Amino acid sequence: MDWADELAARVEGPQVVNDSKTPSGTVHVGSLRGPVILDVITRALRARGLDTTLLYGVDDLDPMDAQALLSPDAIEREMGRPLAHVPDPHGDCHVSYARHFAGIFIDTFAGLGIHPDRYYWMSDIYPTGQMDPFIRTALERAETVREVYRRVANVRHPDHWLPLGVICRTCGKIGTTIASDWDGETVAVACKPDLVTWATGCGWTGRVAPFGGAAKLPWNLEWAAQWSLFGVTIEPNGKDLATAGGSRDRSDAISREVFDREPPLNFPYEFLNIGGKKMSTSKGRGAAAHTITAVIPPEQLRFLFVRSRPESVIEFDPEGTDAIPRLFDEFDRLAAATAGREVRGELPSGHESIFRYSLLDAGADVAATADAFRPAFGHLALLAQVPGVDVTERVTAEKGEPLTDTESADLGVRLASVARWLEAYAPERARLEIRRDGLPVEAELLRPEQRAFARALAEVARGDAPATGEQWQAAIFSVATGHGLDAKAAFNALYLAFLGRANGPRAGWLLASLERDFVIARLVAAGAAAGEATA
Ligand SMILES: [Zn+2]
Ligand SMILES: [Zn+2]
Repeated sequence: MDWADELAARVEGPQVVNDSKTPSGTVHVGSLRGPVILDVITRALRARGLDTTLLYGVDDLDPMDAQALLSPDAIEREMGRPLAHVPDPHGDCHVSYARHFAGIFIDTFAGLGIHPDRYYWMSDIYPTGQMDPFIRTALERAETVREVYRRVANVRHPDHWLPLGVICRTCGKIGTTIASDWDGETVAVACKPDLVTWATGCGWTGRVAPFGGAAKLPWNLEWAAQWSLFGVTIEPNGKDLATAGGSRDRSDAISREVFDREPPLNFPYEFLNIGGKKMSTSKGRGAAAHTITAVIPPEQLRFLFVRSRPESVIEFDPEGTDAIPRLFDEFDRLAAATAGREVRGELPSGHESIFRYSLLDAGADVAATADAFRPAFGHLALLAQVPGVDVTERVTAEKGEPLTDTESADLGVRLASVARWLEAYAPERARLEIRRDGLPVEAELLRPEQRAFARALAEVARGDAPATGEQWQAAIFSVATGHGLDAKAAFNALYLAFLGRANGPRAGWLLASLERDFVIARLVAAGAAAGEATA
């Protein structure tokens, strides 16, 4: 079983899976790990026959605290206001800052095969009055809330402190107000110039009835209230929230002790590190979610998250490496295994589930999808760089019959990914220039046994010529072995003869991408002994 099937096997009855996010700015690709995990858990629960609802929420009444994303004249006015009330910094494409950044993030979900049954926005929920009972309970049990903060998080609030953020009647800020003196109907509010360092309150004081959208609960309480309001049974969260005394611990304790409800099952997940850097929302580094998804297609991006257990850090370093081609290769290997073909190497536990959960369509015919013809990414990267090659024709010839519609579509997706990879990430060795004008001068370095190998390989190519990359690769190994040459020296000979350099991409696929006559002529030229050539 894979990790999601394990989780699904542990629970019974109807399930509500939830996640929510504060839309404070640009979101990075690592933030997609949560939504993919949520979706995979939902699929696993449904596969077990459990009635399951997937919710995704936006905590958009949280205060604006990211100054870097505001224009200088907007900082004084907007810092501390609810994100839902801050204008879209990119003009009028969305009704608010929150809708802009949450919208960009959520818009990537459908393309990744993630389809929550319901999205909710806290700025919509509070005005309906649905949060009012939780606000009332929190105020009535304020002493318990303060005690939970003291015990769980070692945070001491003064005795008059109330767990409530009121929106200032005058300046509209929520991050600058402090509430006290709950009398059963209203609270005393002060909007303080110096309550926080990142926003300045206007100094207003007065009494406010904190219901119907006039106020919100602090985040730990809001989170716990969401669990009660929506009946959440499973909520995974990022490792950063799962520290001892951290957000999740606080919300779990508040759920139990203030709202009298057992918190949902937790399933903390680790970060995605891109090139050794932790990818998170607020750090402002790394590729934004909507740009890296343009390089790694959705299925392979899901696969990147699904194949690792949530509790393990994913280290992914695409810059100048083969990480992206290897991701495709592993995806293809699990597809082949799922289709019942023999594959090299050990298979991960639950490999069929991993493949199934990587597919965009939860209802896909898994066997048929697994069985589809998939040209290797590295092979396509080569073909794409050889001038005059009709890649579709080549791939069709390698398959031996016309591509299905799905295979054609998948080929298009792969070629787009190949093009962007070559442009943005590919290592120098993957970039290819076939030295067509004649045997490269670098090939003078060839040793006699390498030349003998080239001659013998030319003979093989003349006879029962290999056609596919695999066949060429097998022929290279077999001829090299026959000449007592190790594989590295054999490949080296081919790279020198065709590329004028000592290393290169997979040689079998390189030769398969070239016309047979050219390959034979070049092997013959390379095979001519240095002495003979100059004699
Ligand atoms: Zn916008
Ligand atoms: Zn104010």
